[in-house]
Formats: sequence, structure tokens, C-alpha cells
Amino acid sequence: MIPEISFEFFPPQNIEATFRLHEAVQSLAPLGPRFVSVTYGAGGTTRALTRDAAHALHRTTGLRVAAHLTCVNASREETLEIARDYAKAGVTDIVALRGDAPKGADGFTPHPEGFASSVELIKALKAEGSFHLRVGAYPEQHPDAANAQADIDFLKAKFDAGADEAITQFFFEADTFLRFRDKCAKAGIDGMITPGILPVENWTAARRFAGLCGAHISDELALGFDAASRDGREELFALAHATELCDDLQSEGVERFHFYTLNRPELTRDICVALGVTPSLSLQDVA
Ligand SMILES: Cc1cc2nc3c(=O)[nH]c(=O)nc-3n(C[C@H](O)[C@H](O)[C@H](O)COP(=O)(O)OP(=O)(O)OC[C@H]3O[C@@H](n4cnc5c(N)ncnc54)[C@H](O)[C@@H]3O)c2cc1C
Repeated sequence: MIPEISFEFFPPQNIEATFRLHEAVQSLAPLGPRFVSVTYGAGGTTRALTRDAAHALHRTTGLRVAAHLTCVNASREETLEIARDYAKAGVTDIVALRGDAPKGADGFTPHPEGFASSVELIKALKAEGSFHLRVGAYPEQHPDAANAQADIDFLKAKFDAGADEAITQFFFEADTFLRFRDKCAKAGIDGMITPGILPVENWTAARRFAGLCGAHISDELALGFDAASRDGREELFALAHATELCDDLQSEGVERFHFYTLNRPELTRDICVALGVTPSLSLQDVA
């Protein structure tokens, strides 16, 4: 079966990056994504840029756009105002997150008048009545979780609070997701959980990201990427690895993938095509 796909982009910070995002969207939109999402900078640093990028994508592409929103650095009222603004502009999909502290700060500290957790944010957004809500999920346990079970219980609380779907942090082995899916089912979570896939454009950077968010890298994978980087075939190795990961997940019944594109479309596009997702529409047809 051909999987359903979705793509994450980040908002551009300058003109050159704006052109890059435009090119990425032009390249990936014809693959017919279920939705595309736009991130919200750590610490709420891209509030206006996220809004502008999400509004522009919604207006100009006809794609379903999900705007990320976090609780960091804003009062409840300010956060809800941002969400209402989205709804007014027709962007009714939100990826609702607690968020991380800004760079240099120590852990998440709620704003004095802000939402103290993602669960509070999800409840408040649900009460607005107009949003389809996606949330984050962590197959390898979030660093703030007391233990793996507490993390899954918290995900259940997010679904109970009104989340419609979850998207996972990236991981490198199919079993990591499959074990997590089993544990979620055992905990009574029956909402959709879509695996987040990181196409590895740059092994050094991916390794650093993985370290920050606790994604396990097996010795075999590290050796494979190291050798491929030495021989100048990192991209081919990345394509083979991500395609095999998705293929293994598909053979266990996974029907959807969310790609962290980092606004670079080539590898994501190649992986999708290798999975049988063929470009069928021009952006004009989509709009
Ligand atoms: C798909 C996806 C998209 C993301 N996009 C962005 C983005 O655009 N911008 C950005 O800044 N960050 C983003 N992040 C990162 C995210 O903000 C961080 O991982 C953040 O630390 C957790 O946010 P959350 O809503 O997933 O956390 P939560 O699920 O609310 O918390 C993480 C874990 O901490 C524990 N925990 C937290 N609060 C409590 C509590 N009150 N009681 C008990 N346990 C608790 C739970 O184990 C929980 O699973 C994204 C993550 C994912 C998976």
C-alpha cells in the first residue's frame, strides 16, 4: 500500500531562506501530502514568522497547513489569541506543544500567566471548538519524563484532553516505534500516532540532534554512516536507510509518515518516491 505522507518545514528568517522554503514546497507539494506543518522557534522566538509562513502557505498552495504552537514565553490569553488568529485565516490545524526553554535557559518554566503544560494548552484549544490538534510523542522517552511508562501515561492524558493525533520524535530503528506503539495500545491509547522520520541530510548534524533528543544510534548505523560519509555516498546511504526504515514500519501496518524536511526537499522526495508515492499534481492543481 502507498503510505500517506506529511512534511514539516521551519519558517524562513531571511529572503534567501524564503526562496528555499518556496522551492521545497514546490518540490514536495506534488506528492500530495496529507498536511504540512510549520514549526515555532524554541522559546517562541519565531512567533510572527511562523504565523506569516503558515498563513502564506495556506493562502498560496491550498495545502492543509498545521501551525506549531508552544506554551513558552506567553500568557494563556496571548497564546489563545495566536490560535484564534490562525482560525480566522483558515488555519485550523495546530501542533500543540509545551515547548522548550529558550537557548541558555534551564528547563521549561511556565510563564506566570501561561499554560503550565501541553495538557492545559490542548484542553484550552479544544474548548475553542475549531481546531484539529496534533501533539508530540516520544518513542525513546522524553528527557523530562520520570520513566517510559510515565511518558506514555502523559501521552494518554494529552489524547484524553482532546488531541486528535500524535507525531513522534524521530528515531532510527523500526522496533523503537513498534515497541512504543504496543505500549501505547496497552495503555488504552487508540488515537493515531504517526512516526516522525528524519531524512539524514547531514550525518554530523543528525548525530548532534539525536544526542539532544535521546534518539538511539546503533553501532551498525554509526559505522554505516561514517563509512558512507568518508566515501562521499552519505546521501545514498541516508536514502537506503530511511526507505528501509519506512518499509519495515509499513510491513507492520504503519500507513503514514511525517518527514522532518529541514526545508531541504531532495532526500525527502526521493524517499517518498522509493515508497511508491509519485508526484501527480502540479502546485497549481493543488491550489
Ligand atoms: C512532532 C514534534 C514537533 C515539535 N515542534 C516543535 C516546535 O515547533 N517548537 C518547539 O519549540 N519545540 C518543538 N518540539 C519539541 C518539543 O517542544 C519539546 O520536546 C518539549 O520539551 C516537549 O514538548 P511536548 O508538548 O511534546 O511535551 P509534553 O508531552 O507536554 O512533555 C514532555 C514529557 O515531559 C513529561 N511531562 C511534562 N509535563 C509534565 C507534567 N506536568 N507532569 C508529568 N510529566 C510531565 C512527560 O513525560 C511528557 O511526555 C516538537 C516535538 C515534536 C515531537
